[in-house]
Amino acid sequence: MIDLRQNSCINKVIIHHTDTSNFVTGKQLNLDAIANSMFGLVFDIIINVNGNIDLSPRWIYATQGSQYIQNVPLRGIINNYPKHYLSAAGDNTDTNLTTVHIAVIGNFNITEPSIHQLHKLVEVIAQISYELNLCIHKGELKVLYHSDAFKVSCPGILFIDEKELKNKIIAKVKKMGRCK
Ligand SMILES: [Zn+2]
Repeated sequence: MIDLRQNSCINKVIIHHTDTSNFVTGKQLNLDAIANSMFGLVFDIIINVNGNIDLSPRWIYATQGSQYIQNVPLRGIINNYPKHYLSAAGDNTDTNLTTVHIAVIGNFNITEPSIHQLHKLVEVIAQISYELNLCIHKGELKVLYHSDAFKVSCPGILFIDEKELKNKIIAKVKKMGRCK
């Protein structure tokens, strides 16, 4: 836990699945991570099957891995938390320093994400774009799948088409009054 990310560093969102059963909750996954000697989940924002958004100890700059926040409102996800620990999910430090890692709970090589999850995913990324004032269609905020950066099947072959997702997010940001 040395490296810090600030909101001003952020220019990327990378989307993952948790590669777990979709019956599990983010809170349970966070406890499992602690049991595996990690500082909580390596992701920043977790989207539960019911669409509830949780924030990991890394995102909220917690002093302990057990500080995990469930069911947060969209507003303030960026502004209420200016500092974050590095999400050391891999050794690509430069990427992680500038990235918000969002994990959608489930294994989308086996099942599809829930409607609630897709809806919330669009909303939360639109909110990030809005609060950071970074346009997605101008490339100021990049929205990537984990599989774009690495040879992994994440967020899974049954996940929504990447272009379709991006278009939904851009439409949402425009509706919010940014990036005309
Ligand atoms: Zn991933």
